[in-house]
Amino acid sequence: MYYRTRAIILKNRDFKETDKLVTIFSESEGKVSAVAKGIKKPKSSLRVCVQPFCHSSLFLSRGKGLDLITQGKIIDFYGNTRNDINSILHVVYMMELLDKTLIDRVPVPGLYGTTLKVLAYINEIGFNPLIIRYFEMRLLTILGYKPVLNRCVFCGQTTGLAGFNLAEGGIVCNKCSPGAQSNFPLFGESLALARLLTGANLRTLSRVTASAPALKQLEIFMEKFLEYHLERRFNLKNIMRILKKNIII
Ligand SMILES: [Zn+2]
Repeated sequence: MYYRTRAIILKNRDFKETDKLVTIFSESEGKVSAVAKGIKKPKSSLRVCVQPFCHSSLFLSRGKGLDLITQGKIIDFYGNTRNDINSILHVVYMMELLDKTLIDRVPVPGLYGTTLKVLAYINEIGFNPLIIRYFEMRLLTILGYKPVLNRCVFCGQTTGLAGFNLAEGGIVCNKCSPGAQSNFPLFGESLALARLLTGANLRTLSRVTASAPALKQLEIFMEKFLEYHLERRFNLKNIMRILKKNIII
């Protein structure tokens, strides 16, 4: 059986002598692992369209084992992104997040659309940490973990807030809080930014100016929240930290 789909390339790795195993986030099928045959031969036309974070139109055949990518055409290569190491690192991180959260052959059209928008934004306008946080927040929301950020998750109170409780998935007030140690300190500007991420679009976010400490706090918050729900350590985040220390990004 043959099928055609648009797909975002999450990653590829060597597979047999001349082939590669490509993990794609396809529009119609969700996450799929497929073999690109003969791709390491110099004349392979498939080579360019299975590069990580390309947007491609692929023609695949489904058999008993792994799907085979038989033809492909590139839709967007995101060339500007590839010229900037910081953008590359963050886009590869997005691909890693998708690879670790998507379930095989479960299409997620909302997330597919969001990913394309964020990829296009970074390619056209450049890297912006708030846009990566937006991607993380959209991913969690679409997967069903939208945080409650504007009131206490227990009693609904909007004042006397005691931080964000990861287990409850929301802000808690001083009265309902199970204990300050169990809350993540999400207050003030970083809380306002987190609220903005749940409602604003990319255009609005690109006009927001935020302080470096608030952005850092938001980054740590999103990382904890992702880890809590996805129960996996995102190795790439650690790699990025080491890279940032050694090459100033
Ligand atoms: Zn409360």
